[in-house]
Amino acid sequence: MRVCIHRGTKQIGGTCIEIEAQGKRIVLDIGLPLDAGEHDDPAALVPPVPGFREPDPSLLGVVISHPHQDHYGLIQHIRSDIPVLIGAAATRILATAADFIPSSVKLSNTIPLADRNPITQGPFTITPYLMDHSAYDAYAMVIEADGKRLFYSGDLRGHGRKSTFFDELVRNPPPRIDALLLEGTTIGRTNTDRGFATESDLEEAFLAAFGSTPGLAMVWASGQNFDRLVTVFRASKRAGRRFIVDLYTAAMLAATGNEHVPQSDWPEVSVFVPRWQRVKIKTSERFDLLRPHHAHRIYPEQFAELASSYVLLFRPAMSRELEQANCLSGARLQYSMWEGYLGEERMQPTLGWLKTKEISVETIHSSGHASVADLKRLARSMRPKALVPIHSFHTGSYPELFENVTPKQDGVWWDV
Ligand SMILES: [Zn+2]
Repeated sequence: MRVCIHRGTKQIGGTCIEIEAQGKRIVLDIGLPLDAGEHDDPAALVPPVPGFREPDPSLLGVVISHPHQDHYGLIQHIRSDIPVLIGAAATRILATAADFIPSSVKLSNTIPLADRNPITQGPFTITPYLMDHSAYDAYAMVIEADGKRLFYSGDLRGHGRKSTFFDELVRNPPPRIDALLLEGTTIGRTNTDRGFATESDLEEAFLAAFGSTPGLAMVWASGQNFDRLVTVFRASKRAGRRFIVDLYTAAMLAATGNEHVPQSDWPEVSVFVPRWQRVKIKTSERFDLLRPHHAHRIYPEQFAELASSYVLLFRPAMSRELEQANCLSGARLQYSMWEGYLGEERMQPTLGWLKTKEISVETIHSSGHASVADLKRLARSMRPKALVPIHSFHTGSYPELFENVTPKQDGVWWDV
């Protein structure tokens, strides 16, 4: 079995790994690089894998570890007849998101990944392990061929709502791993050697914040970080506040197919359909998107009167409507995504608007990725013959943290 990491030995995002055995090949992830600019032609970023553009029967499939752009974002730019191995819920989530945001994708020709359910593709046996991550339906996996065994971490963590899956992997790792491709997103960040706050810790922090907010409590979080949405919902309920999500988030929550994740028909949940979503439904005549949630709608006129009994999942595109609804007196906002985004150009207009409205912004967040403490636990228990750094801006630091580190270069083939 031979491997070529096309992208990922020196960076977070854009991950693409080609694996060859007996003249057949599979590819793990085909991500959009994080530094891809708006003006870059995404098609030009597709790695040079035979079969992506021209038909090539030796390419057996592309495995998508989880539905985050930095792992699937270039898939629209390869042939649509290539089989895509991806979780069933992840497929639904991407398809639902595509109704609202152009960067998402409706996949056809999929083969569903399921926890510890081996799939054979030619000489390869792929065994997925459902993992704890900020993306839903995320998998790590063992790839076996030619008597060799490779473990690809995908993106993972050990402090979210699926931490038991990570703990079980550490307690009972797949044996005889020749190469471990281990993500290291948090290497170089602060406090990562001590471990990170859990979702329960965050729930307490949100509860305290909501309790001390005199008006509308707003949370700025991803509509696809379901662990976090559960946390915010639980804190809202404990604070005696109704949880209000936009139509996109209501659709995403439904796409999980998980009855433990809050849904628009739960008594403590309401759906606000901001103007841009109303326009989208009307111009595309997609009234079906609204139908499942229509009975649970709430309107901006209600916000002013009852602001102190709501927690609103904030979207920058709502700003003007909230302002017009006169509901921002005494409002506070909890920011619940990676703090690095706050420095980006695209965030400045919203941060400026919050300032003019005198809405204080505080951060309540925990990483979607494992702490170094947890990465060390995993590496120690798996004891791979070679540990290959991937998905990190600090791959040079791996030898100080792990045993048997074998750094690789982008675009270079090596034997497992
Ligand atoms: Zn990633």
